[in-house]
Amino acid sequence: MNASKVNLFDFDRGGLEAFFTGKGEKAFRAVQLMRWMHQLGETDFARMTDLAKPLRQRLAEEASIELPKVVSDRLATDGTRKMLLQLQDGNCIETVFIPETDRGTLCISSQVGCTLNCSFCMTARQGYNRNLTVAEIIGQIWQAARLLNHTHDKRVISNIVLMGMGEPLLNFDNVVTAIGLMLDDLAYGLSKRRITLSTAGVVPGIDRLSQVCDISLAVSLHATTDAVRDQLVPLNKKYPIADVLAACRRYIDASTPQNRKVTFEYVMLKDINDSEKDARRLINLMSQVPSKINLIPFNTFPGTQYECSSRETVERFRDKLGSAGFVTVIRKTRGDDIDAACGQLAGRVMDRTRRSQPIKIQSV
Ligand code: SAH
Repeated sequence: MNASKVNLFDFDRGGLEAFFTGKGEKAFRAVQLMRWMHQLGETDFARMTDLAKPLRQRLAEEASIELPKVVSDRLATDGTRKMLLQLQDGNCIETVFIPETDRGTLCISSQVGCTLNCSFCMTARQGYNRNLTVAEIIGQIWQAARLLNHTHDKRVISNIVLMGMGEPLLNFDNVVTAIGLMLDDLAYGLSKRRITLSTAGVVPGIDRLSQVCDISLAVSLHATTDAVRDQLVPLNKKYPIADVLAACRRYIDASTPQNRKVTFEYVMLKDINDSEKDARRLINLMSQVPSKINLIPFNTFPGTQYECSSRETVERFRDKLGSAGFVTVIRKTRGDDIDAACGQLAGRVMDRTRRSQPIKIQSV
């Protein structure tokens, strides 16, 4: 542990420049460090050969490069890969790589556990411990990129979704700094359209985000009435559907080019939110915001009271939205044989909310 040293993975370019100038060094050292750390994957100052030896030594004494450690790496039959990463305090988080023909998407976590307690989500059962640091958010990309580089087919990470454990907008500052690194050509160099932040609908967070960047936005809608959404996403009691939609509209208005769309996520729950009436109400809600929709078949987990809608119901729902003119995708369930699908990420959370309880698994 290097608790007293600054972790250089916590800095974006501006932060790193300030770090160097604060030490009487040139700001462009930040450029060199970023290349070494994020692009070449070097974590040992001694091997950063374009830095003068005394500077390398000074860095080793005064700074550190600390990353979460990969403690397990599992491959599903469909190629989805789930990594369990251990943090310095012993908590563990999950990161999932989803290969598709035309892209490779990395789904990363933003918190250890989650505070929102959505009733259909497995992560909620784990309780909550804390926000992730910038280094822990970026460290997931760094570790995944290294692991992928060592497989025979050398997949690249072309897209990043903040859809793992946690609510990214409740860890605003660290998430935004990490997004800065994802966008920075000296680090991960992704375009804003290839980075998607998913939120359960933290309205002030959506507005703040629109002031600092315009990456793609996804919103977990999941219901068409406040009464049902209150049950599924308790945050709805604070920020009801109309407020969330208004924030989405403001976000799109502030984005460039203006033809962009919010993605609504809608988990399909049998007899809860999958009726014809729901489809009609959803069409009405979606007409208020430039949007497309991802229907997510509910992924089950031990102890849940919910069931997934039937395939026919999901398809009928999709067709209704589609014929109303909305881009509607049924999200493929990926990696469910290793519990890597949406809502199944659990990690190992030292719960501080006492929400987590042993899950009863019925013996058959
Ligand atoms: N807190 C953010 C980020 C998590 S994203 C958010 O709520 O958007 C994870 C996505 O998977 C969310 O859309 C979430 O609602 C969905 N999800 C959670 N549990 C699920 C489950 N059991 N089956 C399918 N999707 C689920």
